Amino acid sequence: MSNTFRAYQITKDEDGQKVALTTLTESDLMDGDVTVKVEYSAVNYKDGLAMTAKAPVVRRFPLIPGIDFAGTVTASENSEFSAGDKVILNGFGVGEVHSGGFSEVARVDGNWLIPLPSGITTRQAMAVGTAGYTAMLCILALENHGITPESGNILVTGAAGGVGSVAISILSELGYDVVAVTGRSNEHDYLVSLGAVKVIDREHFSKKARMLDKEQWVGGIDVAGGNTLANVLSQIKYGGAVAACGLAESMELPTSVAPFILRGVALYGIDSVMAPVAKRKQAWQRIAEDLDFSKLDTLSNEITLEEVPAVAEAILSGTIRGRTVVKIS
Ligand code: NDP
Repeated sequence: MSNTFRAYQITKDEDGQKVALTTLTESDLMDGDVTVKVEYSAVNYKDGLAMTAKAPVVRRFPLIPGIDFAGTVTASENSEFSAGDKVILNGFGVGEVHSGGFSEVARVDGNWLIPLPSGITTRQAMAVGTAGYTAMLCILALENHGITPESGNILVTGAAGGVGSVAISILSELGYDVVAVTGRSNEHDYLVSLGAVKVIDREHFSKKARMLDKEQWVGGIDVAGGNTLANVLSQIKYGGAVAACGLAESMELPTSVAPFILRGVALYGIDSVMAPVAKRKQAWQRIAEDLDFSKLDTLSNEITLEEVPAVAEAILSGTIRGRTVVKIS
């Protein structure tokens, strides 16, 4: 490895936040006991917010953005990892308060890393990325609630996005009937190719929700929040559950207690950033086992580091289909 490497760096002065692709040295990295040659990263919704400064995601400057990466350990003072190990990093404040994955080299706390599950490559891991790992956390929450493929339909919102695309692929592989909610009529064929049995226009979920609506779905995975989540909750069957992970529509949740106290509906909050390592390992192992990796080619695109800013803008406008993996080195 040469002494210098390429990375995006976000700086802040009185004019605000700026981002540039630049050349750094290892002394520009933050503290950590494991150094990783980053092979792939990905553009997640939160990366879009960080790169564009549309929300105060980055809270330490200067900082290398990129909330996830996969690569090979080059140096380690952590007993769990040795040079040559393949690893994955998701969250733990990386790309927010600790320098992250839009860089040829990363240095992090080894306690944040998990070993790459056998059978998958670093590229596949980032094609799944934080969005796909979060989709699996949502599926695990529904399973822990007792939902099985025999229980009934599962509704997935933001279906053509990253979380939605991976959730549909895995759920359909597990034998669930998945109903996809999308705002993009041109993505119907894509969603059916991932395994959706039905596609519904999201305008049916965007108006103010009734307290209780017709019971239609045993479970839901929601990336939108706002009226969308309120409508999903109002349509969940008695005893069903929703896993909520996102705010693509809104941080608000204009609902009532009716679905909870009259239908026993459960709402599970899903956080990927600080999820315990055991949960992460379980999610990644299940991804390795349950995702049809041939579908990853359908739902992911590869870009270069230079293309990250344009994709960061696009993901916030809801125009990116599936996942975008970034080839780093
Ligand atoms: P994407 O941008 O890939 O997908 C989001 C999708 O949401 C869009 O593609 C669109 O799908 C849908 N959408 C966009 N705007 C609206 C709207 N106004 N109303 C309803 N639906 C809308 O993002 P990701 O899938 O990567 O992430 C989705 C959400 O999950 C984000 O809010 C992200 O921050 C959050 N997230 C949270 C995590 C956690 O730890 N809790 C981890 C990962 C992500 P379509 O065009 O099909 O309608």
